[in-house]
Amino acid sequence: MNTALAQYDPQIYELIKQEQTRQSGSLRLIPSENYVSKAVMQASGSVLTNKYSEGYPGKRYYEGQQVTDLIETIAIQRAKKVFKADHANVQPYSGSVANLGAYNALLSPGDTVMGLSLPYGGHLTHGWKVSVTSKFYKSVQYTVRGDTGRLDFNQIEELAKQHRPKMIICGATAYPRTIDFSQFGRIAKEVGAFLLADIAHISGLVVAGIHPSPVPYADIVSTTTHKTLRGPRGGMLLCKAEHAASVDKSVFPGLQGGPHMHTVTAIAVALAEADTPEFVAYAKQIVANAAALAQKLMEKGFKLVSDGTDNHLVLIDLRNKGIPGKKFAKALDRARIETNYNTIPDDPAPPFNPSGLRIGTPAITSRGMKEPEMAKIAEYMAKVAENIDNESVIEQVGKEVLLLCSQFPVPEHFIKPS
Ligand SMILES: *Cc1c(COP(=O)(O)O)cnc(C)c1O
Repeated sequence: MNTALAQYDPQIYELIKQEQTRQSGSLRLIPSENYVSKAVMQASGSVLTNKYSEGYPGKRYYEGQQVTDLIETIAIQRAKKVFKADHANVQPYSGSVANLGAYNALLSPGDTVMGLSLPYGGHLTHGWKVSVTSKFYKSVQYTVRGDTGRLDFNQIEELAKQHRPKMIICGATAYPRTIDFSQFGRIAKEVGAFLLADIAHISGLVVAGIHPSPVPYADIVSTTTHKTLRGPRGGMLLCKAEHAASVDKSVFPGLQGGPHMHTVTAIAVALAEADTPEFVAYAKQIVANAAALAQKLMEKGFKLVSDGTDNHLVLIDLRNKGIPGKKFAKALDRARIETNYNTIPDDPAPPFNPSGLRIGTPAITSRGMKEPEMAKIAEYMAKVAENIDNESVIEQVGKEVLLLCSQFPVPEHFIKPS
């Protein structure tokens, strides 16, 4: 396949090679990113990309579904098994569309929703002002506490009682702590709201039993498939049996046309991988690495939102370092350390140049890095921070990073389906 690409389109072939080199020669600390296995990559690049399959297994609008029906059924069964859910829909194109699918399943336009505000760690699709989720629905936003960096269930309960949302959304994109889904379940029940739990970031940890599952409490659970779950880019909805029909109808024909069957195929493979002791060990190591990285960063004088982490993610408050998030992220990138600048709770700086940096360990853990490497990474980051305007030091750190990367080749991990 690579030969065909090299011959037919050498320009794009070269660029893919460049990206491959870049991904293997840098420390990829963006917490939403990962490296998929060879098996997932193969499934994702398979002939299933050629097939249209509008509808669901056994109820399609096009012929030739002898194989797709089997594949999608397997993906659904595996999703139900690993998440212990009544029902699964594996067709959403991505996490954002999965969320829209959940909204569309349970709400009518104009209904009130309540989600975590974006600058406090929520996602665009949780009702942020530029998102259609605040244009089609009335949006109320809760926050995390500025002083502790943690969710404040008193505030959430008060807001819920005051605004009586039809749906509460919990889950986050930049929250380093365990989310107590039972509290959200209690509040949703109290005000008669549906509960949508968006576990896009942590679904791999949930499958592995490292983070509590929202499945017992939420009407619908949405997730991406490409973050800690380590599958292809995609989305998924899990729900209670009573919502199964409306969720399916909402995704197709409500929101999407034909599912991306090559992605559904790769999701099936990723779910088999996630259902192994090796994956549980991987998820445990993600969290152990994040804890070690957090500890070492604090020893280097970095201030962390909530003073640590319970999950895969660390949010650095850079104000005591006097370095804006964007400047630090760009300097780190020159040192082959990929991160993203991010707002922190109650951020005094504007959102396009916020005071924080968001990092995570899913991708570097896929490379086999462990606690000793976390200490090195914290050292590199501190060195860049201390020499933020010294390009030769930054370049030197980049060389050390490259050496470290060469000792942990990009994974070719293939976890045998059990
Ligand atoms: C990443 C993310 C999404 C969106 O996923 P996309 O695949 O980028 O559309 C939704 N919700 C949360 C909490 C996320 O972190």
